[in-house]
Amino acid sequence: MKENLHLESNCIHGTYRAASGEPQTLPIAQSTTYRYYDSADVAKLFDLDSADHMYSRISNPTVNALEEKMALLEGGTAAVCTSSGQAASLTACLNICTAGDHILCSSNVYGGTSNLLGVSLKKLGIETTFLTADLTREQILAEARPNTKLIFGETLGNPALSVLDFEKYSSVAKELNIPFIVDNTLATPYLCRPLEHGANIVVHSTTKYSDGHALAVGGCVIDGGNFDWRAAGKYPGLCEPDESYHGLVYVEKFPACPFALKLRAQLLRDFGCTMSPMNAFLTHLGLETLHLRMERHVKNAQILAEYLAASPYVDWVFYPGLSDNPYYELGKKYMPLGAGGVLTFGIKGGLAAGNEFVKQLKLVSLAVHVGDIRSCVLHPSSTTHRQLSEAEQIAAGIKPELIRVSVGCENIEDIVADFEQALKAAAK
Ligand SMILES: *Cc1c(COP(=O)(O)O)cnc(C)c1O
Repeated sequence: MKENLHLESNCIHGTYRAASGEPQTLPIAQSTTYRYYDSADVAKLFDLDSADHMYSRISNPTVNALEEKMALLEGGTAAVCTSSGQAASLTACLNICTAGDHILCSSNVYGGTSNLLGVSLKKLGIETTFLTADLTREQILAEARPNTKLIFGETLGNPALSVLDFEKYSSVAKELNIPFIVDNTLATPYLCRPLEHGANIVVHSTTKYSDGHALAVGGCVIDGGNFDWRAAGKYPGLCEPDESYHGLVYVEKFPACPFALKLRAQLLRDFGCTMSPMNAFLTHLGLETLHLRMERHVKNAQILAEYLAASPYVDWVFYPGLSDNPYYELGKKYMPLGAGGVLTFGIKGGLAAGNEFVKQLKLVSLAVHVGDIRSCVLHPSSTTHRQLSEAEQIAAGIKPELIRVSVGCENIEDIVADFEQALKAAAK
């Protein structure tokens, strides 16, 4: 029955169904541990022969409900929640990469991701080649090495706002027999479902639109169940016996979702980057209105983008929903319901006017965040991307005068009025 429901209904209901007389809403299982009466039952947990819970570092009923909802919304076979979006990207990579391996990654990814791959994973012996959006399929293939283990992209780059060319990336992945991992944080499954466009694994920072209320940091890794690890022949961790679980082989024991099971059984167990039950409860609650919020976010963002494009105080506006944007066609193809809730613009008067504009805003807040119901702005060049050189910033799509706007769910007339008064004040 679940499969036949629309995304909106799945946002509200997920897979949680109360039995007769049980709570209508998802309860919080605020417990680190689980009671058993027979050691034989506990033994089954340690052999991964039971889906019951052992210890909340590895699984928890409330976290499981969120995982099932995320898998349902993205169309995957299973999901694992993590303590943050960074932990989701980290564990997705480390689940199949070890020292000596190589990653291909879009250069338009989130700053935290480019730092994780380009700096921190490099220290662990995993090298990444970053791919600019103009590279052709053949040029990307030429960057591949025998030890390339995955290709990583972001549906809607934060804050480059590039729309990923799914066809190009998925065809490279197929040619190289490697999984295609997509960060779908900014698009959300309401606007785009990467697994329908050739992705094999989806990662999220649930901190953004999934939560939607700026309450809980979290992440999620969704297994598409659509990659043949054995045929690829270079993923021993999934295809050879895991001695820490009595020699079980993930692709044999869990053929529908070996990636998710291994990530939970090994990486959550050993690295401990677990989501708390309380944060899972809050995020699950946020998802109940994802479809309503995204509908409003994209509508408001489109109107604000058009307003700014016509404003005499504004130099340029970047939003894939504007017909002169370089990603307009890709946006229509992969995100037909709207180009997301984030836009960027450059104010006339550059850096100084930008700083003054941010100071003058009254309703809209200055915050290091996107995806909140409250509209907020940020100057990435002096904040989130300050660790990059100017050349690297420009390669990542960040101009020095760029202001990122996460358009909220307020009445659009109030948002526009606040922008108007702040733009006027900054121009004085
Ligand atoms: C915020 C963000 C992340 C990192 O997520 P955290 O929850 O902050 O760790 C990863 N990818 C994208 C696209 C993001 O916006």
